[in-house]
Formats: sequence, structure tokens, C-alpha cells
Amino acid sequence: MFDALAERLEDAWKKIRGQDKISQSNITEALKEVRRALLEADVNLQVVKSFISEVEKAALGAEVISGVNPGQQFIKIVYDELVKVMGESNVPLALADKAPTVILMAGLQGAGKTTATAKLALYLRKEKRSCLMVATDVYRPAAINQLITLGQQINIPVFELGTEANPVEIAQKGVEKAKELNIDTVIIDTAGRLQIDESMMAELAQIKQKVKPDDTLLVVDAMTGQEAANLTRTFHEQIGITGAILSKLDGDTRGGAALSVRQISGQPIKFVGVGEKVEALQPFYPDRMASRILNMGDVLTLVEKAQEELDLADVEKMQNKILQAQFDFNDFLKQMKLLKNMGSLGGILKLIPGMGKLSGADIERGETELKRTEAMIGSMTSEERSNPDLLAKSPSRRRRIAKGSGHDESEVTKLIANFTRMRSMMQQMGQGRMPSMAGMPGM
Ligand code: GDP
Repeated sequence: MFDALAERLEDAWKKIRGQDKISQSNITEALKEVRRALLEADVNLQVVKSFISEVEKAALGAEVISGVNPGQQFIKIVYDELVKVMGESNVPLALADKAPTVILMAGLQGAGKTTATAKLALYLRKEKRSCLMVATDVYRPAAINQLITLGQQINIPVFELGTEANPVEIAQKGVEKAKELNIDTVIIDTAGRLQIDESMMAELAQIKQKVKPDDTLLVVDAMTGQEAANLTRTFHEQIGITGAILSKLDGDTRGGAALSVRQISGQPIKFVGVGEKVEALQPFYPDRMASRILNMGDVLTLVEKAQEELDLADVEKMQNKILQAQFDFNDFLKQMKLLKNMGSLGGILKLIPGMGKLSGADIERGETELKRTEAMIGSMTSEERSNPDLLAKSPSRRRRIAKGSGHDESEVTKLIANFTRMRSMMQQMGQGRMPSMAGMPGM
């Protein structure tokens, strides 16, 4: 699921990948792509508009983070905005202090209400709560039987009064029954219609008024896309929901409903249904859903790590050192450590555009090389690290380092020569001159 959305968003950031700054001009194209992607994923137009304007605001105000390209940074901004739209964190069920807690289920016929009722009861039992399920859909005997069957399957009692009783009365009596039996949670399954219908709404409102539920959950079929927005609005306006369960997220859904519910009603999605089985219910986590939509967990981690690791003051100090050719082995080690903290070298290289084609062997060689370098630097005295020129002049020092790190003297000599050359190249580039390539091996 969400494949379409993930793919289109990928197109969006390809457009600003490789550019060195997020700007109004490069972001316009990318935003257009995000907009198209969301519309294709069946996100409601109104939701899309406000989403895009928030992303634009955040992107233009974003500080450029060193070590991350703007494409990656843009993904992070879209991700943060997705999380925000879906509500930041998981909102648990509103369980009352005094028993019983009453949960009212609402939704259209076929949305997955009855299934969700049983799923929720099972979930709560795992949390050591006792449950009673109440069947009030007197219009469809099959619905009552379905709940009874599910109840037997998971061994949770069902309260029903057949098809002749009044739904409001059944709900009230169900709550009384739970009190009598010392059951701490009542879940009331209600009748749905194929479409929103006045008498269904009136009945729901009446049940709600009488049993005063602690939580009123709208079950939304994730496959309905655009429609989810209107449905949520109507139910919220007419009966007042306090949360939602997004069902059938395992299906071939484009995912738009996940973004609409919270934005339209201000109420959180609390659970998602991910299958027909009674066990297939999971708490809803906005951050996990956003990662799933973007399908880009590794990039997000990279950006977050870079944000944590890179102190801007540090970067500035480093730049000054480079300009004055004072960059030494301590700085070199720091950079290597930073790179390592951000993940495996292979992992990082794969995130860099064009580097995806490096073979596993290439990456392995690079990693081995880094380890050898680290070992050689580890065998230097602190005086040598902060003054690499000492090493260029003294064969005995080089010999000692070779011995200490278990390498050939020639390798140490090579490291120092490479380092010195790199330092002068960095200095020239820092001063805005193209480094002279003449005389460099392989150039
Ligand atoms: P109700 O009319 O709202 O009570 O809907 P039901 O609970 O009877 O569900 C309607 C259909 O959707 C049934 O065939 C369920 O098995 C199916 N269903 C419910 N929830 C899910 C879900 O999360 N995933 C999938 N794949 N099917 C579901």
C-alpha cells in the first residue's frame, strides 16, 4: 500500500536532489509533485492544500544542515509535516476511572465495525481488562449473529436482545449488565447503513446521549480514500466522535484516508485494522505511518543523526582550520567518527545520489581502508596528531607508528603523503581556487 504515494514523492525530491540549497525556485517543482502524489493517493483536496502550504513554509525557513543534501532535507520536512497532520503521537483509548468504560462504535455498513468491536475486545483483554460486547444492529439479524460468533471465537460475552428490541434500550441495558457482572469495558456495536442516513444518525445520537460513552470511535474504511473526509466530517458534526479506527489498511489502499481523518475532525486515529482476523488490530502511531508512507526510514535517520552530531560552531571552527592549513589528524579522526556514527559507510554511500551503484566489494574496501587509517592514527602521539608535519620529516616516527599499528612503513608514509596533499587541496578550494592536479597520482 501507499506505493503510489511513495513513488511520486521520490520523483519530487529527485528534483531537488543534487542542488545545494532549498530555495523557492527548486521547491516549487517538488511541491507540485507532492501535491500530485497526495491527490493520487486520494487525499482530500482541502487537506492537500493546507499540507502543501505547511511544507512550503517549513522548507523555506529550514536551516541548511551540513552533511545532508537538500533532497534528503526536504524528505525530512515532508515527513515531519505528515506526522503533524496525523497527530504527532499515539492517543490511547479514553478509559474511565470508574467502571465500566463505555466505547461506542460508529460507521457505515461494511466499514468493519463489527470486526473492529471484536478486535478491540481482544486487544483490551490482553491489557487485562474484561469486556462485554453489545449488539444493537436490530435491522440485520446477520450482524447480531456475526458478533455472537466472534464472541464465541474469542470467548468474550455478547449482550443482545434479538431484533425486536429498541437499539437505544439495548445499549443502556448492556451497560447495566456490565455493571452487574463487574465487567470494566463495554463496547457497543451499532447499525450502519450503506450511506449516511438521517435516521441512522439520529439513532446513534440518541444512544450516545443515553449511555454517555467515554470514547466514540468512527470506523473508517481505508479503501474509501476521498470519501473518508466527508464521512468523518458528517459523523463528527452530527454525533461528535472522539477518535477513529482505520480499517482495511492491509488492502490495496492508497492511504489518503489516514491523512484526512485528523485534519478534518481534529480527532485522532487510535487504531488501525490490518486484516480480517480478530488479532489484526494495531495502535496507530503517526510517526510509523509517516515512515511507511515515505518508505524512507534510512534517510530520515541519517538526517536526524546529522542534526544531532553536527554542532554548527564545530563546523565553523573546522572551516577556519582548513583555510589556515591547520587541519590535523585529530580533526581527521573527528570527521571519521562522525561518519561512522551516522551509520555504516556503505549505508551512507547508498544514500548519496549516483553512489547507489557502488558494489559491495567497493564499499567493503572503503570500510577496511578507514579502519586501517584509524589504527595508524591511533598509534600516533598527540603531538604528532596535531602537527602532521613532524611525521613527514621523521622516518623513525613513521617506523614506530607502523610497528604500533601493525602496518608497513610504506603504508604510513602513504597515509601522511595523502593527508598532506588533501590538506593543501582543501585549503586551495577553501580559498576559492581550483587545486592544482598536476603531479598527483592517477590524475
Ligand atoms: P460492519 O458492517 O461495519 O460491521 O463491517 P464488518 O465488520 O462486517 O466488516 C466488513 C468486511 O470487512 C468483512 O468481510 C470483514 O472481514 C472485512 N474487514 C474488516 N476489517 C478488516 C481489515 O482490517 N482488513 C481486511 N482485509 N478486512 C477487514
